[in-house]
Amino acid sequence: MSNTDFVLAIEDLTVSFDGFKAVDKLNMYIDKNELRVVIGPNGAGKTTVLDLICGKTKSTAGSIKFKNRELTKLSEHEIVRAGVGRKFQTPSIYENLSVYQNLEVSYPKGRGVFGSLFFKRNDAVVAQVHKIAREIMLQDFLGMEAALLSHGQKQWLEIGMLLMQDPELLMLDEPVAGMSAKERDQTAELLNRICQNRSVIVIEHDMEFVKKIAHKVTVLHQGKILAEGAMDKVQANEKVIEVYLGH
Ligand code: ADP
Ligand code: MG
Repeated sequence: MSNTDFVLAIEDLTVSFDGFKAVDKLNMYIDKNELRVVIGPNGAGKTTVLDLICGKTKSTAGSIKFKNRELTKLSEHEIVRAGVGRKFQTPSIYENLSVYQNLEVSYPKGRGVFGSLFFKRNDAVVAQVHKIAREIMLQDFLGMEAALLSHGQKQWLEIGMLLMQDPELLMLDEPVAGMSAKERDQTAELLNRICQNRSVIVIEHDMEFVKKIAHKVTVLHQGKILAEGAMDKVQANEKVIEVYLGH
């Protein structure tokens, strides 16, 4: 494929587990600053798509281009450094560290000025921690041990840890599972803010939440795209109602 303006261009992506195609010739294109939501029944292949993008699972065939760079040949580590952040369903924060420390340790190593100008890096880290803490609504909790945060705040902290790396593509797998209604609303606002500077892919089941955030929705079913487009169109799609929304 020739160069594109898409941040992410997935073409003919396939992964086969012992002959079973969990993702089957998938094509998907994500714009700069787009917030895309991926929905679909359990087992549709949603999480596997994120695993393929972040390099946790290796594809059987097809291409994933991030800013025109092929990701399928890169290691997970190289994909993170290229600017792709991914949040898993269960938060992986350091429970015994403070909110501040959790953010601090997530600052990318090897960025900024070193050597005799070490203090400059320190200033940059402190500034970034405070900026991100405000963004994730934890500015008043910086000194608190992460273990004491609410479930929702822990999810936000993990998003913040990813934001410390300033990724150009952020992927979140079911970020509001287990959250209160208020936390869901706050998370919707958070995601609407952070997609102003980056592209975001969210997997989610909560349709009220999806409505608040999605620019476009992709419906996956048996590793293929069943429908794609604006939320209201997708919700009215007969096939989507039959395999997913009708339940
Ligand atoms: P979703 O996130 O949409 O619920 P998944 O992507 O987790 O679905 O799974 C899609 C299908 O692929 C399921 O049938 C699942 O059992 C299978 N699958 C996922 N990962 C693996 C793996 N590493 N090995 C074998 N089968 C897998
Ligand atoms: Mg899943």
